[in-house]
Amino acid sequence: MKVVATFARARSESSKVSGPIGLVPTMGSLHDGHLSLIEEARRECSHVVMSLYINALQFGDIEDFERYPRDLERDLRLAASAGADLVFVPEDSTMYPEGDVSRVSFKGISEIMEGSFRPGHFEGVGTVVVKLLAGLQPDRAYFGRKDAQQLAVVRRLVRDLAFPIRIVGCPTVREKDGLALSSRNLRLDPKCRESALALSRGLFEAADLAESGEIDGPILERTAMNVMADTLGVEPEYATLADQINAVRISHVDRPAFLAVAARIGRVRLIDNIHLELVERSVVVDRGLRLSHKSVLYDDAMQQDGSLENRRVS
Ligand code: AMP
Repeated sequence: MKVVATFARARSESSKVSGPIGLVPTMGSLHDGHLSLIEEARRECSHVVMSLYINALQFGDIEDFERYPRDLERDLRLAASAGADLVFVPEDSTMYPEGDVSRVSFKGISEIMEGSFRPGHFEGVGTVVVKLLAGLQPDRAYFGRKDAQQLAVVRRLVRDLAFPIRIVGCPTVREKDGLALSSRNLRLDPKCRESALALSRGLFEAADLAESGEIDGPILERTAMNVMADTLGVEPEYATLADQINAVRISHVDRPAFLAVAARIGRVRLIDNIHLELVERSVVVDRGLRLSHKSVLYDDAMQQDGSLENRRVS
């Protein structure tokens, strides 16, 4: 696996290989969710590029940016063992050259949920994604369904700006007990870690309701919201049923949808969602995949040898 810091070097490495180039954009602090994206790219592409860049522009909260976990050596070990061919680790000056003023903005799609609680977030995401797609020129790019609104925004961006790139959405990987994997989970102390389960618990309760025929948006939203609000240590921000394509709020599950939640647990802000599909007029819920073992996010032994034996998902 090669590690490069410039777009030109990355393109030059990719040009040596024939067949599709797959890109997995990340901010590092890798966990099994990121590794599942690399594995999916590995299955479909001849050359797998992972980018590793903590994009300050998408953090409204400077504290969240400063506290974001960083461990390059560990990330490189894990990326190699998951099958990445190339890791792109740019300097700030590569991503935002002196005098840089161009930004990507979205109308309509980015105003609710994360857009309203994190003003400027999607401008930051859109801008960095455009730079990565333009600079690295992949054929496919892999994103997690864990960030459902981001996935919708990126799909829209690629269509609107005519990038000849296929965006692949991959299932949310969860810890054994249901908590969606996130680099921010590292910052949860044991009490907060327990409280954080309210996000997935609320979503799964709503999922059970939806699968038994409840398609009313406000009822599903309230179900998830109440579980979070009733859990000590959890400050819910929203529970919203939205259309998968446009990420606008909808009143019924009458098209492919997702139910997204966000909450603060102490100083850590977490998001999660389930995807709801319509199959022959019934709702089928994608709750994501559960790890059968402890995540590499916490495993020191794993960090030393990079072994992936322990991280099969069910
Ligand atoms: P991040 O490093 O948080 O920006 O995430 C990089 C990519 O990994 C994004 O496409 C995320 O949606 C995806 N991702 C993050 N957490 C998970 C997860 N638990 N399961 C699947 N994909 C994830």
